[in-house]
Amino acid sequence: MARYTGATCRLCRREGTKLFLKGQRCYSQDKCALGNHPGARKGAPGMHPTSRRKQSEYGMQLRAKQRTKRFYGVLEAQFRKFYARAERMPGKTGENLLALLELRLDNIVYRLGLAESRAHARQLVTHGHILVNGKKLDIPSATLDVNDEVSVAENARKFKIFEEMAERPVPSWLSIDTTALKGTVLSIPTREEVDVDVEETLIVELYSK
Ligand code: SF4
Repeated sequence: MARYTGATCRLCRREGTKLFLKGQRCYSQDKCALGNHPGARKGAPGMHPTSRRKQSEYGMQLRAKQRTKRFYGVLEAQFRKFYARAERMPGKTGENLLALLELRLDNIVYRLGLAESRAHARQLVTHGHILVNGKKLDIPSATLDVNDEVSVAENARKFKIFEEMAERPVPSWLSIDTTALKGTVLSIPTREEVDVDVEETLIVELYSK
């Protein structure tokens, strides 16, 4: 499985927003590269981080796509496949795309608070620690549906991470039973329920060229 192996905080600096790629560190004002501390490096990476060059229309579309890809930890080829699926669905392509990305198994494991980050969630999934409807599913990009149930495999329940589950609010389209380490997809997420800071119409414009 291809994955990004470069510096993670650099991606947030490039996008100028928190992408929450490093687990608990991202919630700390003292440790996050975009936090409020003397060592924070808020500008874009590179030689001219404070360049005020006006962004072109293409530049804005490209940044919207890159920010979304990086937020969900998806590489270009797979992002394209999700986009193609979104296009075939009824409704607005941009909103369909975000719903499909939210319904990925790794994202749901993260949203349920069973993992510190999406990268950590992917690792739990590929290592076979996550069950869907009682059966092992080790494909992080698998799309779940309404009423699907996600749980932690018996042999993984003793992991410290599950004893100290992240106390993040769970989105309204999911439910979690923290004692049973089990969550359920209640509905397909609407645009209002997805907190990614992006104008999805810009992605549609980019891919429609
Ligand atoms: Fe991004 Fe801050 Fe997390 Fe680094 S610590 S990945 S800058 S949100």
